[in-house]
Amino acid sequence: MKILVINAGSSSLKYQLIDMTDESVIAKGLVERIGVGVGGDKSNLSHKYADKKYEVEIEKLPDHNAAMELVLQTLTGKEHGVISDLSEIGAVGHRVLHGGEKFTASCLIDDAVIAAIEENIPLGPLHNPANLMGIRACQKVLPDVPQVAVFDTAFHQTMEPKAYRYAIPNEYYTDLHIRKYGFHGTSHRYIAARSQELLGLPKGNKVIICHLGNGSSLSACVDGKCTDTSMGLTPLDGLVMGTRSGTLDPAVVEFICNRKGMTVSECLNMLNKKSGLQALAGSSDMRDVTARYDAGDPDAKLAIEMWAYVLKKYIGSYAAAMGGVDAIIFTAGIGENHVRARKWACEGLEFMGVKIDDARNEAAHGEAKISADDSRVQVWVIPTNEELAIARDTLEIATKK
Ligand code: ADP
Repeated sequence: MKILVINAGSSSLKYQLIDMTDESVIAKGLVERIGVGVGGDKSNLSHKYADKKYEVEIEKLPDHNAAMELVLQTLTGKEHGVISDLSEIGAVGHRVLHGGEKFTASCLIDDAVIAAIEENIPLGPLHNPANLMGIRACQKVLPDVPQVAVFDTAFHQTMEPKAYRYAIPNEYYTDLHIRKYGFHGTSHRYIAARSQELLGLPKGNKVIICHLGNGSSLSACVDGKCTDTSMGLTPLDGLVMGTRSGTLDPAVVEFICNRKGMTVSECLNMLNKKSGLQALAGSSDMRDVTARYDAGDPDAKLAIEMWAYVLKKYIGSYAAAMGGVDAIIFTAGIGENHVRARKWACEGLEFMGVKIDDARNEAAHGEAKISADDSRVQVWVIPTNEELAIARDTLEIATKK
């Protein structure tokens, strides 16, 4: 079966068509600048298939319906198409940001599921409406094809209350559902499952997964199940990220608003989009920050020191919370590719049995163990594949009798 994976953002739509007979990617791409009033008067499409790339700027697409139509036209088109007919698409899997407490796993989309995603809009005000637009656009153009929702929060629903509750009055939890949810769940789940297959760990094993990309989060997993994670009610919490501040004293918000005459939304926008590495070192991209660090830039030095320091504090605290750690896994853009960042993250953790083998770390490509043979804690790089995880769930659910 061929499965179309859709990741709809507020003004973008990413897609991948995957052949599930061998899990190969047939085509993938991205439509950007969707919507009137969104940057510029054109939209653009980038489409990759086989070893070819097709990029085009087109008349402004007014909404996600139009974007979805463009994607399907491209997939079936004469020039750059990869399927002859839409009937070849067996099912569609949608990435949905926030499933709240309702969704602990992926599910077939029906009216009740759409209503529940809508109910969770207050928890994911930017993403859930976009995800819904993607779902509705697909329903419109592919009315008879099963659609599956895969939630970014679902994997973390195994956390216990002691990990997910905030120490604030109960009514904020019971009435407003304020708690830690965690994100990047599809990635963490994929890596957690892979760690159980790959590492040969005994029952009761404790693994810390470091998803380090532009957005970054950690999860602490026992036997592949999440017991804690670093993002919270929203993805702002936790590590120093590309443009997000990560954890800070919440009183900072009132202080900034008062002193700068900013609204709470403006302040949160600054913490989400103008903070992290971007604020400390002038770029959200770890490669740029590293280049500046190498050129002796003191701001970049501090940014990297803070990035590693906060990450190490989380690793240490999760080891303490789980009563030990058997493996640490690095994934996503920085985790998979940035040799020195992995080294910085593990430096000083020798006391708890973490010993990186420099040659292995430098040579790591794909799935690779980078710890020394005498390291008590195994350290691995495992590339994540969120689209494949979504496609696998979609196949399973769409073909369930
Ligand atoms: P997103 O959260 O947007 O999916 P990614 O997982 O793509 O982010 O990660 C982006 C980060 O990965 C950037 O900070 C970038 O510098 C880093 N990165 C990507 N490729 C490399 C590479 N080859 N070497 C070092 N860092 C890399």
